[in-house]
Amino acid sequence: MSKTSPIITTACHVCGSTELERAAAYAALHRVTSDCKPWPPGGQLARCRACGFIQTPITPQWQAEADQIYAGYTIYHQSGGAEQSVFHERSGAGQPRSAQLIQAMRDACALPSRGRLLDIGCGNGSFLSAWSRLVPGWTLCGTEVSDKYKVQIEKIPGVERLFTGDIAEIPGNFDVISLIHVLEHIPFPVAFLKRLREKLKPDGLLFIEVPDCQQNCFMLLVADHCSHFSPGLLAGVVRAAGFDVRHTTNQWVAKEVSVVGRPLPGENEARAATLPQSDSLQVFNGWQQLRQILAKVEPLAKEPSFGLFGTAIAATWLDAQLNRAARFFVDEDVNRIGKTHLDRPIVSPADVPKGATIFVALPQPLAGNVAERLRQLGKGLRVELP
Ligand SMILES: [Zn+2]
Repeated sequence: MSKTSPIITTACHVCGSTELERAAAYAALHRVTSDCKPWPPGGQLARCRACGFIQTPITPQWQAEADQIYAGYTIYHQSGGAEQSVFHERSGAGQPRSAQLIQAMRDACALPSRGRLLDIGCGNGSFLSAWSRLVPGWTLCGTEVSDKYKVQIEKIPGVERLFTGDIAEIPGNFDVISLIHVLEHIPFPVAFLKRLREKLKPDGLLFIEVPDCQQNCFMLLVADHCSHFSPGLLAGVVRAAGFDVRHTTNQWVAKEVSVVGRPLPGENEARAATLPQSDSLQVFNGWQQLRQILAKVEPLAKEPSFGLFGTAIAATWLDAQLNRAARFFVDEDVNRIGKTHLDRPIVSPADVPKGATIFVALPQPLAGNVAERLRQLGKGLRVELP
């Protein structure tokens, strides 16, 4: 039996081709919202045979589900609204993601001492407040679909205002436009980035951060993401929108892709997306990896003291697939320890019960380093990883 079957009802949202190859058994998998809540099965994952883009087709059902997810959105609810920390691969020491990203970007790009930044989809203002603190002297603006955090955002030093309308209506141009975990939510990403190009100064910078689905196949399960990137796929999309790609890396934040681009002059005509086929095939095959991971965890979940390491996408997904089998969740993030996830306790590694079975719900190589730290606790733990 063929593992994939063509669908012809929806076109690729990068190149418009109707030659989409669908991951047939993906629809049977549970999904997770980007704010880490379980979401029922029934999604689609497709690969464009023409350009190689990996996507969730933009169907009325996808749009309705995304709207429903955003209506109930609670940003960083596992840590009571505090931004997620990123952890050093070996030591486990954490710092807020925005601060790490801004430091990496400043090391790589020469930023003027004064400038104007627009943060698209600024959420509750984590990136804006980190920028305000680390790059003082800049004027900052944010956009969001709602004005829920308007007061909080406009109190950040340097913030001019929060915009909730059409981007084209925002006055003036910008030195930096940032999209931190935003582009993966936006249908027709090339067309969207072309519109942002109009808002950048000629020597301005576009800064995009997305999950790396090549390193982290769990991200394919996020119900409100419609584009699934690798470094090569994101760089290709940014080039197709008329940018010179200056930096493409997955080293600034673990499991994430960072791209910095500069607008190319006179690039108003349509350009075909050239996306690397090897990245395209690897990212698409991630859904097969997910099924293999599930097969590995299912027997472990029958153990009497079973817990999942992690409180993010992977752990939330596995717990849903396993009918809420996790007795507890383990996390190293001090903002999360002592709280609950899906109505069960989040414990620190030191508080894991002796002899428990733990599955590390993280992609490699992070999972290996965490497993090593758990085994060193000397509690007779059974620690397994993807
Ligand atoms: Zn395509």
